[in-house]
Amino acid sequence: EMFGQLTSGLESAWNKLKGEEVLTKENIVEPMRDIRRALLEADVSLPVVRRFVQTVSEQAVGVGVIRGVKPDQQLVKIVSDELVKLMGGEVSELTFAKSGPTVILLAGLQGVGKTTVSAKLALYLKKQGKSCMLIAGDVYRPAAIDQLVILGKQVDVPVYTAGTDVKPADIAKQGLQEAKKQNVDVIIMDTAGRLQIDKSMMDELKDVKRVLNPTEVLLVVDAMTGQEAAALVTTFNLEIGITGAILTKLDGDSRGGAALSVKEVSGKPIKLVGRGERMEDLEPFYPDRMAGRILGMGDVLSFVEKAQEVMKQEDAEDLQKKIMTAKFDFNDFLKQTRAVARMGSMSRVLGMIPGMGKVTPAQIREAEKSLQIMEAMIEVMTPEEREQPELLAESPARRKRIAQESGKTEQQVSQLVAQLFQMRVRMKNLMGAMEGGSVPALSN
Ligand code: GDP
Repeated sequence: EMFGQLTSGLESAWNKLKGEEVLTKENIVEPMRDIRRALLEADVSLPVVRRFVQTVSEQAVGVGVIRGVKPDQQLVKIVSDELVKLMGGEVSELTFAKSGPTVILLAGLQGVGKTTVSAKLALYLKKQGKSCMLIAGDVYRPAAIDQLVILGKQVDVPVYTAGTDVKPADIAKQGLQEAKKQNVDVIIMDTAGRLQIDKSMMDELKDVKRVLNPTEVLLVVDAMTGQEAAALVTTFNLEIGITGAILTKLDGDSRGGAALSVKEVSGKPIKLVGRGERMEDLEPFYPDRMAGRILGMGDVLSFVEKAQEVMKQEDAEDLQKKIMTAKFDFNDFLKQTRAVARMGSMSRVLGMIPGMGKVTPAQIREAEKSLQIMEAMIEVMTPEEREQPELLAESPARRKRIAQESGKTEQQVSQLVAQLFQMRVRMKNLMGAMEGGSVPALSN
C-alpha cells in the first residue's frame, strides 16, 4: 500500500478523538503530535511539517460544529484539505507550445528513472494524439542510448541518436532540426545524469536549454529519496530554471516525503508521477487523489463534505431535540432517509456507521430499494399516523390499510414501524442520552 506507514500514523491521530464531542485546543494536542510524528517519519522536511501542523491546529480549533459530523471526521477533512494545498492544490498540466513543436527537456540524477520516463512520456502524449520524437542526449552512458532506442521501439516513437562523441548541445540542435523536418508535435530530450549534482552537468544542461528553448524543463526525481528530492528540485530550479518535476517510483515503498515536500519547498509543481516499470505507468499528479490515498478515508471525506452542504444547522438542532425527547416520528424518518439519499450513494453513509464496515454494490442496491419501499408506505400514512407512530404500533387495521394502499405486505409495514422505534432508541443512544426508550411489541 502506497505510503502505508504514513496512513497508519495519521490513523492514530483520529483514533485519539473517538468519543470527543468537539475539537478543542486541549484535545487536539495529542492528535497533532501524532500527525507531526507521522509526517516526519514519512520524511517530510521539518519546516514543512511545522507549518502544516500550525495551520491544521489553528483551523481545527476554529472550526464550527457540524451536527452529525464527529470531531475525528472533521480533523480528517481539515488535514485532507491542507494536504491538497501542500501538494499544489490543482493538478498542474503540461504546457504545450502555441506555435511550432513543444519541447520537453528532462533532467535528473542517474538512476532516478529518467530514460524510462522519456519513453513513458512519449507514449503518454501519443495517446493524446500527439506525434513525438525522442532525442538521446545521455552521451556518458552508451547503454542509456541503447536503452532509449529499445524503449522507443516499444512505444513506437522515433529516437534521434548521434552517438556519444557529439556534445549534448549539438545533439539537441540536430535533433531539433530533424524533428522540425518531420513536423512532430512534441520533442522529448533525455539528458545525462550524474551520481550527484556537479558543475559540468549544470553547465551542460544550460547549454542544451539555450539551444532547445524548451516549453517544459522537468526534473525527474525518485520518490524513494524523500525530502532530498524536494531539495534537488530547488537546486535545479535555481541553477537552470525548471517548470516542474516528475516523481518516479511511487509504486515502491516510498514514504511520501517527496510527494508532500516538493511543491512547498521548491515552489515548483509535480506534474507527473511514475508508478511502475511498465510504459503505461505514468500519470498526472492529482493532489486531491493523492491526499485521498494517503488518508485512505475517501468515505469520511465525502461524508463530511456532503454533510456540510446538506445539513443545515437548524434542521440538525431540531432533529436532535426530537431525538432527545423521543418524538422522532415518520416525518422525521422520511426527512432523514431523503437527506441520506441526497447525500449521495448510500455506501458512503453506511460506511460511516460503526460496525457496518465496507458495503458491496449489491448491498447498496438493496439499501436503495428498501428506501423506496419505506417511502411508499410513509406516503400513504395519515398526518396523525406520521406524527404518532404509536397509532400504528397499536392498530393492526391501520397497518393493513397502509399495506393495501402502498402495495406492500403487512409484514413490511410492521417491519417499518418496528424500525422507527428501534431507530429512536439507537439515535437516543448515539446522542449520548443516558436512558434509552424501549421498543414496543406490536399488538396483533
Ligand atoms: P536513469 O538512469 O535516470 O535513466 O534511470 P532508468 O530509466 O534507467 O531507470 C532506473 C531503474 O528504475 C530501471 O530499472 C527502471 O525500470 C526503474 N524505474 C523507473 N521508473 C520507475 C517507476 O516508476 N517504478 C519502478 N518500480 N521502477 C522504475
